[in-house]
Amino acid sequence: QNLTWEFCVTREEQQYNYEMRCTALSNEMSFVAILRDITKRKNNEEATQLAASVYRNSSEGMAITDATGTILDVNPAFCRLTQYSRDEILGQSFTKLSSGNHSKTFYREMWEQITTTGRWQGEIENRRKNGELFIELLTIDTVYNEDQRVHRYVGIFTDVTASKEAEKLIWKQANFDPLTNLPNRAMLKNSTAKEIARSERRNSIMAMLLLDLDHFKDVNDSLGHAVGDELLIEVARRLTSAVRKVDTVARLGGDEFVVLLSDLNEISDVNVIASNILESLARVYHLGDNTAHITACIGIALYPNDKDCIEDLLKSADQAMYTAKARGRNRYYFFTPEMQFAVTFRADLIKSLRCAIENEQFILNYQPIVDLNSGKINKAEALIRWQHPSKGTIGPDDFIPITEETGLINPLGKWIFATALEQVKLIRQTINSNFQITVNISPVQLASKDSGMENWSEQMLRANVNGSALVTEITENLIIDSGKRTQNLLLALKKIGIQLALDDFGTGYSSLSYLQELDSDYLKIDQKFVKNIEHGNEALTMCEAIIVMAHRLGIKVIAEGIETESQKQLLIAAGCDFGQGYLFSPPLSSGQLIDLLAEENTKLDQQMA
Ligand code: C2E
Ligand code: MG
Ligand code: MG
Repeated sequence: QNLTWEFCVTREEQQYNYEMRCTALSNEMSFVAILRDITKRKNNEEATQLAASVYRNSSEGMAITDATGTILDVNPAFCRLTQYSRDEILGQSFTKLSSGNHSKTFYREMWEQITTTGRWQGEIENRRKNGELFIELLTIDTVYNEDQRVHRYVGIFTDVTASKEAEKLIWKQANFDPLTNLPNRAMLKNSTAKEIARSERRNSIMAMLLLDLDHFKDVNDSLGHAVGDELLIEVARRLTSAVRKVDTVARLGGDEFVVLLSDLNEISDVNVIASNILESLARVYHLGDNTAHITACIGIALYPNDKDCIEDLLKSADQAMYTAKARGRNRYYFFTPEMQFAVTFRADLIKSLRCAIENEQFILNYQPIVDLNSGKINKAEALIRWQHPSKGTIGPDDFIPITEETGLINPLGKWIFATALEQVKLIRQTINSNFQITVNISPVQLASKDSGMENWSEQMLRANVNGSALVTEITENLIIDSGKRTQNLLLALKKIGIQLALDDFGTGYSSLSYLQELDSDYLKIDQKFVKNIEHGNEALTMCEAIIVMAHRLGIKVIAEGIETESQKQLLIAAGCDFGQGYLFSPPLSSGQLIDLLAEENTKLDQQMA
């Protein structure tokens, strides 16, 4: 009687749905056919099915409420994420999920926005049925009636707890030191910026204390790194409890810590806190089965007195710390403008030192060494000077230490050796064939592979100068700390006939056994002793003792810094072999020395005649 079917036609890539309904008429001979375009209905049906499937299968939680906020439906993901079954939650409101961690204002503003714009999106902390907190990224949309009244609210959310936690972990790793849990350098920068702003507002002082443990390496070396770590953790704990809650304690790395003291009224407060910190750190450490002792040095920079930006404050504190260290262990030191000046001066020097050799700004002066028995000059000490283009002549005490730190002593040492060699060759050839030049050698040169000292014998051979033309002057402290390399090198020099003098004797450890072990040829009594000698006094007794002892060991003695006739006479009476000092001559230029020696020769010739 009736037949209905649906079919689909594709026209110009568009799909159209039709329904054909045929009804037979009573005469059974004819029928009526009705064709209807059902494309729209089909599309709607499909969309609804799709929406329902999304709703059911989505990983996002969804909930639909009526206009009063009563939950009408939730999807399976909602139940999974909140742990409430559909039955438990239907008829409830969203407050059932509330964590209690948001303020009333938070919810009020949220609903205000929904009422005015129809939509709210944001992060909200809720609570699952088992009490566990979770963070969701929630969107609430409003569905309106035809008369624009609220019909439904639709809430869709994703659980972002895991990614939030990962974010937090990354933030923590980027801002905190994993060993001590203290803020690290990055975090310290933040805190410093905040504290600077605060002291500006309140017109108060902020102090940055840079702290470095003294000889921490020894703890690591003797007790192991695990114990070293424990010690650092304990240091962090002591530091934190030595300051107020509002202060910041950070670890920059290694054994370096920073304490930020904020909102101070008086600089003297810093003194008290720094002393307390030192005292607390110096107490004995019980680390498992071990006990350890450690102290620290602190450099202090103040805001706004010293510097006004974080990096500069740190630099100033660092300079002050450096000064504290130079003065010994277990102390604190405030930054001063003079320190700044010294640092800038030093930096300038390093820069210009690098090109000073190339630019031929160094000269060697020679100070005669006189044989006290004959009064004859048969040696001279090579003493370096730097003729700085703008600063004038700079003495070795002001730049040798820098060349030692920077390694520039090696190229400089090579130049000194070559220049002294040329000079002694000239004197030996023209004036005195037994003349000797003594050359000061830095311990750094002896310890370094790049000193070029291994080539000395070859260079002397090539220059056709006998080894006996040179004497090396080394300081006694060097020998005491020296390694195998240094000792082998000294032995090799001795082998080619270069003699050895022990410089500045009496200022260091002055060990007799080392003198003997080294097979030293000369001993130079430091000018500190010579300066003070007088009839019957202790300084003279010391000199006499040194001379007797040296002679027993077959070592000749050179007294440095002889300035007066009486000093000379006392030393001669004590049996001293050689003398050097302003009484005889100041350090001379190469030409002046040659003139002096030539003059002396002529005098001797005249006497002989
Ligand atoms: P030093 O080796 O003990 O040199 C002796 C220092 O005493 C020299 O100072 C010299 O000028 C000074 N002097 C000499 N006679 C008198 C005197 O009668 N009275 C007083 N008050 N001083 C006198 P200078 O030239 O300033 O050298 C200082 C130090 O620098 C030297 O002490 C030496 O350790 C180092 N030095 C000098 N030249 C060189 C060098 O070429 N290489 C290395 N590595 N160090 C050098
Ligand atoms: Mg010397
Ligand atoms: Mg000396």
